[in-house]
Amino acid sequence: MPQIRTLSMQPNFAGKHKVFIQNIQYSNNSNEIATDILRLDEIHPVISGNKFFKLQLHIKEAIEKQFTTIATFGGAYSNHIIATACYCNQLGISSVGIIRGEEPTKKSDTLLQAEAFGMQLIYVSREAFKDKNKIVDSFKTGNYYWVNEGGYSRLGAEGAADICTFIDESYTDIVCAVGTGTMMAGLVIGAKQNQKITGISVLKGNEKLIESVMDLLTDEEQKKHFELIEGYHFGGYAKHPEALLDWMNFFYTQNKVPTDLVYTAKLCYAVNDLLYKGYFATNSKIMIIHSGGLQGNKSLKEGRLIF
Ligand SMILES: *Cc1c(COP(=O)(O)O)cnc(C)c1O
Repeated sequence: MPQIRTLSMQPNFAGKHKVFIQNIQYSNNSNEIATDILRLDEIHPVISGNKFFKLQLHIKEAIEKQFTTIATFGGAYSNHIIATACYCNQLGISSVGIIRGEEPTKKSDTLLQAEAFGMQLIYVSREAFKDKNKIVDSFKTGNYYWVNEGGYSRLGAEGAADICTFIDESYTDIVCAVGTGTMMAGLVIGAKQNQKITGISVLKGNEKLIESVMDLLTDEEQKKHFELIEGYHFGGYAKHPEALLDWMNFFYTQNKVPTDLVYTAKLCYAVNDLLYKGYFATNSKIMIIHSGGLQGNKSLKEGRLIF
């Protein structure tokens, strides 16, 4: 039976706020290491997983400082964009999404839904998108509270530290997917002394990633509590070869846990491989963070995934 706790966080969203902890069966787990998953994908149908946690303090600050609009950046399939749009919609705050690339003739589900939540979408060329300061400057006249792409900031990390309130001290290892590294920094901040955080990078070679995580940590001691692992990107960010999709179906059959093709599928795959390679000590107890993002699977042909 999964353990169930209720997420008691402001604001009080419509929808389910259940946090499940569920056991995971891995074929490579010959040492029978206890492996659980924290189902943050279940907390809300749209503001899923870590995006809720990374946004919460930004939005709180924006409200306290009386900003009327939240503005942020992202790509056409961004979980961060849709989460921001929905979060603002629920609180009655305006939102603006600066989208990388020209306006597509056929918009992704992500963009259509963000628009349905009232987000104003502004498309900028890939080249112009790189210079965030210039974009922010061009909006000087508006009363905008800016959130970095992917929610990357100290405030984002502090918000993500709350994820640890669902992880008791019996767990020795916490494993998560890493994009900007904000969630991992948050887990490092929120974890107990005895817990090690392992981050699985979904990027192909980003030498600055460790630095980005370090920059979000103020405590020197904390910087020793994590490890970033590369090589599980399956070809690069958001790349999803058939083998990965097949594996997602297999994992679902075994565990009834749906994963997303950008982050959590690669994470869950990596844990299986790391178990096989003996990365975790025999008496470990592992918590895998299901950070949500399932809406991104809609970019696939219908029926390719069995969930
Ligand atoms: C955004 C996202 C991540 C990455 O979080 P970072 O804080 O940017 O490292 C991981 N998993 C899912 C499902 C996401 O949407």
